[in-house]
Amino acid sequence: AGPVSNFSSYIQTRKAAEGAAASLQDQLNSVVTENNEGKSLDGKEISRQPLQLSDVTLQYAGNRGITKVSLVLQPQHLYALVGPSGAGKSTLMGMIERFYEPDTGKICLGDQPIARYAIKQWRAQIAYVPQVSEITSGTFKNYLKMGNPTATDEQLNAVLRRVDLGEWVNGLPQGLDSPLHEYGNNMSGGQRQRLTIAQALLRDANIYLFDEVTANLDADSENIIRGIMHSLAQDHMVVSAAHRLSSIRDADEVIVLEDGRVTGVGTPQSLSNTNDTYARYLKEQTL
Ligand code: ATP
Repeated sequence: AGPVSNFSSYIQTRKAAEGAAASLQDQLNSVVTENNEGKSLDGKEISRQPLQLSDVTLQYAGNRGITKVSLVLQPQHLYALVGPSGAGKSTLMGMIERFYEPDTGKICLGDQPIARYAIKQWRAQIAYVPQVSEITSGTFKNYLKMGNPTATDEQLNAVLRRVDLGEWVNGLPQGLDSPLHEYGNNMSGGQRQRLTIAQALLRDANIYLFDEVTANLDADSENIIRGIMHSLAQDHMVVSAAHRLSSIRDADEVIVLEDGRVTGVGTPQSLSNTNDTYARYLKEQTL
């Protein structure tokens, strides 16, 4: 058992070292900055203009990220990003958020490169919802108010109703003031994810990025989240990365990414006839 245990701790140490190297590279590539210089951004401007990615390429240290991606993303549209693990879906979202700058190519809002805008103002227009939400301490109210510190209880309750958690939270002995740590661990994956989405909705951003948010959720939660994305896309740009095609069947357009490249763009219906990968996913998931 000794050598096996030594080997297992070697693997763990190695994984930690690789993780540290990756995050260092993240920092090198990253344009995260406190500097808020740049063109100011009017919320109305971003709500009306398309995002245009032209020949965008990003390479992580020796690792492919995305290659020559060209896309036009319109406001008031729901886009689904589909593709195998490692295809570049999260990288693309990170570039829209400006966590990474393209090595070559450019990303523009209308005809303006997004790199020209003040970073804080740009990010304030974007709400990102991760696959695994970090809900830890404080109260429901504190947690939600991280989305909008000036939101009233009425607004918090309205958004909770929108994600179908209104009755549940208000049924707790202290309602919105209930401590999250007491309930956080007892919430289902779907409830936690809907609470995270509620906080994102309070941000009142113009671009919503959902990264595999329905992976591993029950069908009811998936349906609620699907409905939220659909209604959000009436007046926002919504991009949702998903493995489960059932969660993105309302998408206006599906973008298929493979090995860092876009291999198909179209409505779910048209892609099922023209894109082999999408057609295969569809077949596998309807079996
Ligand atoms: P998944 O569905 O598993 O989340 P994905 O489609 O989101 O995958 P990305 O996470 O964007 O794919 O990864 C695209 C490629 O870039 C992969 O080859 C991955 O190994 C690489 N990559 C992603 N992040 C980093 C990083 N921080 N450092 C080095 N390489 C990275």
